[in-house]
Amino acid sequence: MLVKLRPVDFGADGMFLAGAAHYPKFMSETVSQAYGAAGRALTLLSHDTVVASGSVCEVDENRCVSCGACITVCTYGAIEFVNTPQGRKARVNPVLCKGDGLCNTKCPTEAIILKHYNNEELQSQIDAAFAEL
Ligand code: SF4
Ligand code: SF4
Repeated sequence: MLVKLRPVDFGADGMFLAGAAHYPKFMSETVSQAYGAAGRALTLLSHDTVVASGSVCEVDENRCVSCGACITVCTYGAIEFVNTPQGRKARVNPVLCKGDGLCNTKCPTEAIILKHYNNEELQSQIDAAFAEL
């Protein structure tokens, strides 16, 4: 029997889907997918370090008011609260962050910045573009 395998990769890095996590399917396909998912996970685990993009978000904990808006909007699960001496603060996992900047738009205190795309840098790009007109 020819079994057409579905991809096991997920939108968030380091997560792999197999079996009924996709949809109901036969046992043979489930087992094949599980092998595939385990293989993909092993590929990641075989590296001593993980290289992440440079354009990821970072939280200025002094400005974070612990509202949770960034955590709610991040579809990659890249932000979580951590307990610090200053109280509960949001923190970004740079390996999971995709740099889409959604959390930036929701933060009421501008505590989260996307590296290389902060307000000053974007304004400079706009100024430079219009200076040529
Ligand atoms: S930039 Fe996108 S992926 Fe990264 S923490 Fe913000 S919402 Fe999540
Ligand atoms: S949205 Fe801003 S203030 Fe609210 S938890 Fe996230 S970083 Fe902190």
